[in-house]
Amino acid sequence: MTMQPLALPVGAGIDPPGPNAPTVTMSPADTKVVAADAATWRARLHAALMPDYNRNAAVYWWAMVGLGGATLLGSAIAVAALPEAVLVQVLVGCVTAMLAAMFPVRIPGSKSSFAAGEIFIFLLLLMHGPAAAALAAAGEALVGSARTSRRWTSRLASPAMAAIAMATTGTALRSTLDAAQSLGAFNAAALMLVVMVFAIAYFLLNTLLVTLVVHLKKGEPLRLGEFFDSFGWVGITYAASSLIAALLYLTFKQVGISVLLAALPIIAMLLSTLHYHFRQRESNEAAQRVRVEAAEREVAQAAQHARALGDSERRFHSAFSHAAIGMALVAPDGQVLQVNPALCNLLGRAEADVLGRRIAGFVHPDDVDTLTHRLLNIDDQAGVDTAVELRCRQPQGREVWLAMHSGYFSEREASAPCLILQAQDITARRDAELRLHHSAFHDSLTSLANRARFAERVAGAIERCRADPLHRFAVMYLDFDRFKLINDTLGHGAGDQFLVTVASRIRHQVRPHDTVGRLGGDEFAILIEDRDAEQVAVTMAERLQHALRAPCTIAGTEISSSASIGITCSSTGYATPDEVLRDADIAMYRAKAAGRARYALFDARLRAEIADQLHLETDLRRAIETDQIDLAYQPIHDLHTGKIVSYEALARWRHPGRGPIAPEIFIPIAEESGLIGALTDRMLTRACRQLKAWQRRAGHHAAIGMHVNVSGTDLCRASLISHVTSTLLANGLQPSQLTLEITETTLMKSLDVALETMNRLRQIGVGLSVDDFGTGYSSLSSLTTLPITSLKIDRSFVQGLHDGGQNSDIVQAIVTLGDALGKSVIAEGVETPAQLAHLRKLGCGFAQGFLLACPLSADVAEVLLDRGAPISDLAQLPSPVPASIADGELTIH
Ligand code: C2E
Ligand code: CA
Ligand code: CA
Repeated sequence: MTMQPLALPVGAGIDPPGPNAPTVTMSPADTKVVAADAATWRARLHAALMPDYNRNAAVYWWAMVGLGGATLLGSAIAVAALPEAVLVQVLVGCVTAMLAAMFPVRIPGSKSSFAAGEIFIFLLLLMHGPAAAALAAAGEALVGSARTSRRWTSRLASPAMAAIAMATTGTALRSTLDAAQSLGAFNAAALMLVVMVFAIAYFLLNTLLVTLVVHLKKGEPLRLGEFFDSFGWVGITYAASSLIAALLYLTFKQVGISVLLAALPIIAMLLSTLHYHFRQRESNEAAQRVRVEAAEREVAQAAQHARALGDSERRFHSAFSHAAIGMALVAPDGQVLQVNPALCNLLGRAEADVLGRRIAGFVHPDDVDTLTHRLLNIDDQAGVDTAVELRCRQPQGREVWLAMHSGYFSEREASAPCLILQAQDITARRDAELRLHHSAFHDSLTSLANRARFAERVAGAIERCRADPLHRFAVMYLDFDRFKLINDTLGHGAGDQFLVTVASRIRHQVRPHDTVGRLGGDEFAILIEDRDAEQVAVTMAERLQHALRAPCTIAGTEISSSASIGITCSSTGYATPDEVLRDADIAMYRAKAAGRARYALFDARLRAEIADQLHLETDLRRAIETDQIDLAYQPIHDLHTGKIVSYEALARWRHPGRGPIAPEIFIPIAEESGLIGALTDRMLTRACRQLKAWQRRAGHHAAIGMHVNVSGTDLCRASLISHVTSTLLANGLQPSQLTLEITETTLMKSLDVALETMNRLRQIGVGLSVDDFGTGYSSLSSLTTLPITSLKIDRSFVQGLHDGGQNSDIVQAIVTLGDALGKSVIAEGVETPAQLAHLRKLGCGFAQGFLLACPLSADVAEVLLDRGAPISDLAQLPSPVPASIADGELTIH
C-alpha cells in the first residue's frame, strides 16, 4: 500500500488547477526566453501549455517528462519480457493501483489522503521488480493527477516523476535485497525494515521532484528543513503501506498467489469501509462544526445584544438622571415609579418624597381632572404623546406651571405598561402670557375690564340668555358729571387719581360676580346677571349715586362729583354687545339731560324716540339738501345807543308733517349724523347774502353785523375757513361784519382742534363769540388766551337777575372780565324791562331777547332796521313778546 500526499497531489501540486489558470505575468527572464523562441513551435507550445513556467521551471519540466518517459519505456520493455502469467499479475496490479487512485481515503482532520493503490505498487515492486512498480506508480499518478488537476503539465509530469522516483528507489531496494540475500542476511524482519526505509525514500524523492517545480516557478531556493517539515503523517502512512505490502509479499511467498486473490477483496472492502467511514465521520464532523459555529454565533449575538441592551440602558439612565427637563415613570394608576432630579427640583421635593406617591398629589386641585383625563386617554397603540399645561404646588406653597408630555412606555420585563412623563417649567411664559392677557383686557389705570373685555362678557351674557329664557342681565352705563372740570382745572394727574378713587368705590358697591369695566375717559359700565337684573340694577344705581356723591380729596382739593347712570336690560332683546352699550349710553344721556346725578332706564319710550329720531334724521337730510331750512334773525342791541348793531341768524325747520321742529332737537341730530357741516355752510351763505341784501337797499345798514352759530364739529373741519372766506368775498362783506358763535361747552370739549381754526378765523378778521357763557366751566386762564371777540352771557343768568342776587354778582364779574380783556359782553334772553335796566346798571354793553325782539323773518328784520327804533323806546313796552320762537311770525314792537 502506498500513500499519496494530498498537500502535494501529483500534478495538482505543480500547477494551479484548471483551464482558468491566471494570465501569467512574466518576469523579464521569461520574456527573454519566450522572445528568443518566438518563431518556433516549442515557443507556441510553451505559451499554450505552460504560460506560467519560467525558463528553469520549463527546462526542469521537460527534463522530468523526458526522463520519466524514458524510464516508463524501459520499464515497459522489461515487463513485456516477463512470462505471460507474471505479465497478467503486473497488469492486474497496475489496474488495481489505478482504480484505487480513483477512491482515495481522506484522513479526517488532515489534508492528506491515501490510496489503496500504493499497497499494490509496493507489492508489485517486491514480487516483480522496479519496472513493474514504476509502471504501476505512473498509472496511479496519472489517475491521481487527472482527478485533481486539469492541466496537462501536471498530468504529464506527475506520472513521469512517480516513474522516476519508483524506478530509482525500487532499483536501490532491489539491489539492497539482492545484496542481503547473497550475504544470507535476508529474513522477514530485515525485509520489512528495508521496504519501509525505501518506501519513505520513495515518498521523499517523489515529493522532492514535485516540490522542485513549484520552487523553480517561484524562483525560490528549496529549503530542506521546510521540506522535511511537511513529511509528517503522510510519510508515516507510506511506511505503513509498505509494511502491509511486505507482509502480503511474505505470506504470498509461503502460501502462493491465492492469498493475494483473497486479500484483494478484503483490502478493497476494508478500504471502502474506511473510505465511507471517514466520509461519514467527515460529514458528521462538518455537521458538528456547523452546529458549533451556529451555537458560537448565537452566543456571540446574544452577548452583543446583551452589551447593546446594557449600553442602551446605561444611556437611558444617564439621559434620565442628567436631563434638564423633569422626567418620571408612572404606573397606570398614577404612582411614581422613577423620578429624575430635575422633576424633583420642579416639585420642590426630595426623591424619597416623590417615589411611590401619586403624581396627582403634586398637582393643583383645579388641574387634577385635566391630568387624569389626559393620562387615561394616552393611546398605547399609536404611541402618541399628549401634552397638557398644568400647575404644580411646591410644599412652600409656590405654584409652578409645567408643560407635561406623557407617553406610553413599555419595559420588556414589566408586567404592565407604564407612562413616561416629561415636564418643563413654563411658569415664566405663563406669567408673561397672563400679564399680556391682563393688559389686553384690562384698563391699566384702574385694573378694571377694558371695553373689549367688557363687551366679551356682555356677549357671554347674551349667549346665556339665548340658551336659558329665564336668564336676565342688565348693563349700567356711568358718566361722571364733572370729570372734565377736574381734568382741566387740576390737571391730568388729579383726573387719574379721581378715576382710581371712583373705580374703587364702584367696585365696593357691586357684588363679586358682577363685571365692572372702564370703557374710556370717565365712562364706566357694570354688567349684572341676575333673574331680577332690572331691580338689582335700579337698587345698585341708587346705592352707587349715594356712594359717589361723597366728596373725595384729590391733590389737596376736596371734590364732590356725581354720576349720571343709564340702565338697559336683556328684556329689550339684544343680539350684540354694541347694541347693549349703545342703549345704556342713550339712557345715560337721558339721565344727564333730565338733570345731573340721576339714572334712567332704557325703555320702549326711549326706543320709540330713537326710532323717531332716525326718521327725523332722514327728513332733515332731505330738508338740508333741498334748502328747506329757513333763517330767523334776532337783533342784538347796543345798550348805550339802543340801536341794532347786528343780527343773530337762527335755523328754522318746518317739517312737512310735524310742523316747526325746535333747533334744540334738530341741531343735535345734524351734529350726530354728520349733517351739521352742510347746514352751517347753508346758514352762512344765506345769512351773508341777506346781510348784503339789506346793505344794498339802505346805505346806513352798512355797519350792521351778522352772528352765525357754528357747532364744535364745524371747528374741526378745514373747509369751514375756505367757506367763510369765499362767502365773504362773494358778498363783498368785511370779515369783521361776521361773528361766529360757539357754545362754551362744545368749545371746551374740542379746544385743542378748535383753537387752530379759531386763530385762523381771527387772522382773517372774523369775530368769534362764546355762546351760553357761564355754563361750560371755561377757566379764566383759557379766556385770556382764546382768540375771541365777545362773550354771550347765558340767559339763565339774565333771567335770575335782581338786585343783590347771586346772578347779579356773576353777570357783574363777567362784564368786568370782558372789559378787562377787551371783549364785548352780550346779555341774551332779556325778557323784562327790569332785567334790561339791571344789565344797564351793571354796565353790560349789548343785549338780545324777546323784550327787544323775537327771532324775525328777513322782511320783518329789515323793517326793524329801517325804523332804527332806539332801545329807550322799547324799554317802555309793558309786556314781553310772545314766546313763539319757532316760526318768526312775530309781533313787531
Ligand atoms: P342760542 O345760540 O343761545 O340762541 C338763542 C336762543 O334763545 C334761540 O332759540 C332764541 O330764540 C332764544 N331766545 C332769544 N331771546 C330769548 C328770550 O328772551 N327768552 C328765551 N327764553 N329765549 C330767547 P332757538 O332759536 O330755539 O335756538 C336754540 C339754540 O339752537 C341756539 O341757542 C343755538 O345754540 C342753536 N341754534 C339755532 N340755530 C342754529 C344754527 O344755525 N346753527 C347752530 N349750530 N346752532 C343753532
Ligand atoms: Ca347763539
Ligand atoms: Ca345762547
